[in-house]
Amino acid sequence: MILVHACCAPCLSSIIDVLDEPFKVFWYNPNIQPYREYLRRLDTLEKFKKEKNFEIIYDFSYDLQHWMENASKLNKKSDVLRCRFCYADRLERTAKYAKENGFDKFTSSTLYSPYQKHELIREIGNALGKKYGIEFYYRDFRDLFPRGDEIAKKYGLYRQGYCGCIFSEFDKYSMKVKLDVHQGIE
Ligand code: SF4
Repeated sequence: MILVHACCAPCLSSIIDVLDEPFKVFWYNPNIQPYREYLRRLDTLEKFKKEKNFEIIYDFSYDLQHWMENASKLNKKSDVLRCRFCYADRLERTAKYAKENGFDKFTSSTLYSPYQKHELIREIGNALGKKYGIEFYYRDFRDLFPRGDEIAKKYGLYRQGYCGCIFSEFDKYSMKVKLDVHQGIE
C-alpha cells in the first residue's frame, strides 16, 4: 500500500490512474497561502475524491508562524533552500505517517509537475526513505502532465496559478504585471 502525498487535485489526478498498487492519499500542505487558497485546494481535492472514490488521510496542521519564519530565513539565501525546506517538511510528515501506519511506500504528487524542482524532491524522498526505513516510491510522472490537464478540465477542477507559498504567488503575478506593463508600453 502506497501513501501518496497530494499537493493538490490536478497533480494527483493522473497519477492515481497509473499506480499499479493500492494507495491512500495524504493531505498535509501548510505551504499553501493564503489560507483561503489552502481551503480552495482542499475543497477541490474533496470534489475529486467524490468522483474517484479514494481515501484521504488528513493532517490539517497549519503552523503559519513556523512555516513563514523558516521559509523567510531561507528565502533570503535562495529559493532552492526555501523549497528544500518545504518539500522536506511535507515529505517527512508523509514518510513518518506511512511508517507508523503500516504502509509499504510513500510518494508525492509533486513528482508530476514540470514546474517543481523534481530532482530535489527525489533526493529528499530517498533520504527520508532511508531515515524512516520505508521505500520512497519514485516515478517521473511529468509525462502525464497533458493528461492531468485534460482530467482537471473534465471534472471542472480548480487549477491554481502558482505553486503554493506567498513567495511563489509574488513571483508569478509580479512577473505578469511586468509583462503587461512592458506590452502596454510597446
Ligand atoms: S515555491 Fe512551492 S515548493 Fe517552493 S516553497 Fe513555495 S510552495 Fe514550497
